Amino acid sequence: MKIIHHKLTKKTKGSGDLIDITQEISHALHKSGLKNGMVTVFNIGSTAAITTFEFEPGLIHDIQELYEKLVPSKKHYAHDETWGDANGFSHLRAALQGPSLTIPFENGELLLGTWQQVVLAEFDNRPRQRQIVVQTIGE
Ligand code: ZN
Repeated sequence: MKIIHHKLTKKTKGSGDLIDITQEISHALHKSGLKNGMVTVFNIGSTAAITTFEFEPGLIHDIQELYEKLVPSKKHYAHDETWGDANGFSHLRAALQGPSLTIPFENGELLLGTWQQVVLAEFDNRPRQRQIVVQTIGE
């Protein structure tokens, strides 16, 4: 069994930016040369998340609307008092969504559905440069 680390860097535009990173994950897996195992995709930082959904304009809109409905950005949060960075909603959305995703792979290919993309969800209230760890474990 082998463990291979890879890191992706992604520039985001701030809250509501959803970025399809499926190809990069797949590329990292192919480069690892491993055939069977699992890939963990982990966002470093507490105001963005990793998720999966069908990456098409309608759903991109629906998902953005869902986050706004669940955790409104215009509301005041206790965290806003701590640093004055006004991104309480960003932390709450990221905590709700979670920072990582584990994807099994077989015969060197990710076991994702055709309409199941891996998505970096930016929630912070300003553009960020994200570091995403892609850890592949397998043989
Ligand atoms: Zn903060």
